[in-house]
Amino acid sequence: ELRTPMNAVLGYTDLILDDIFGEVPAPIRETLERVKTNGQHLLALINDVLDLSRMEAGQLTLSLGDYAMGEVVHAAVSAVESLAAGKKLALKAIVPADLPPGRGDERRLTQVLLNLAGNAIKFTDSGGISIEARAVDGAFLVSVSDTGPGISEVDQHKIFEEFQQADSSSTRAKGGSGLGLSISRRIVELHGGRLWVESAPGVGSTFYFTVPLQVERQAEKA
Ligand code: ADP
Repeated sequence: ELRTPMNAVLGYTDLILDDIFGEVPAPIRETLERVKTNGQHLLALINDVLDLSRMEAGQLTLSLGDYAMGEVVHAAVSAVESLAAGKKLALKAIVPADLPPGRGDERRLTQVLLNLAGNAIKFTDSGGISIEARAVDGAFLVSVSDTGPGISEVDQHKIFEEFQQADSSSTRAKGGSGLGLSISRRIVELHGGRLWVESAPGVGSTFYFTVPLQVERQAEKA
C-alpha cells in the first residue's frame, strides 16, 4: 500500500503546521509547507500510477450512481480556484440551471474534469480558463478552454498516450506524470463517451468530453 505512509507524512505535517506541538517559527513553517506541497504532489502521482496499473489489468471499474453534472463542475472549480487565483487567471464556469440528471461515476468524472482544469491552469500563464457543461443529444458535452500555449497537431496525438508530454522544455518545467490524459480518456470511454482536444499553438486549447446522460453499465473493453 503506497498511499498509507504518504498520508501519514501529510497528516503529521498538518499537525505540526496547526501548532499542535507549539508555535512553529516562520522559516520552519515555510519549509513544512513545501514538505506538504511535495507530499500532495507525490500522492497524486501515486494515485495516477495505481489507476494506470488498474487500467492495464482491466480492473478500472466504474461505480455507477445518480449525479448532477452541475455538482461535478462545482467540485472541480472549488478544487482549482485557489490555483487560478494564485496565477491571476480568470476562472469561469458556465452551467445551465436546467441540466438533466446524470447517471455514471461521479467521483471518476470529477477526476477527469479536475485533470483537464488542472492542466489548463498549469500550462496557462495569462488570460483564463473557462469550463462549460451542456446537454446535447442525450449526452453531456463538457469543455475546458484555456488561453495557454496551445498544442501542435503532432503533440495532440501523443499527449493521450501514457507517460507522454508535449515535447517542449516549458512543459517539462511544469512537472506531472504524463498519465492524467490517458487515464481521463479511459474513464470517459468506460462511460461510453469520447475525450478530445482542439488546439493550435499560440491560440490556447479546448479539451472536450462527452458522456451519455444515463450510463446504466460500463462499456466493454475497447
Ligand atoms: P501531465 O499534465 O501530468 O504531464 P497529462 O496526461 O495530463 O500529464 O498531459 C500530457 C501532456 O499534454 C502535458 O504534459 C502537456 O504537454 C500537454 N497538455 C495537457 N493539457 C494541456 C493544456 N491545457 N495546454 C497545453 N498543453 C497541455
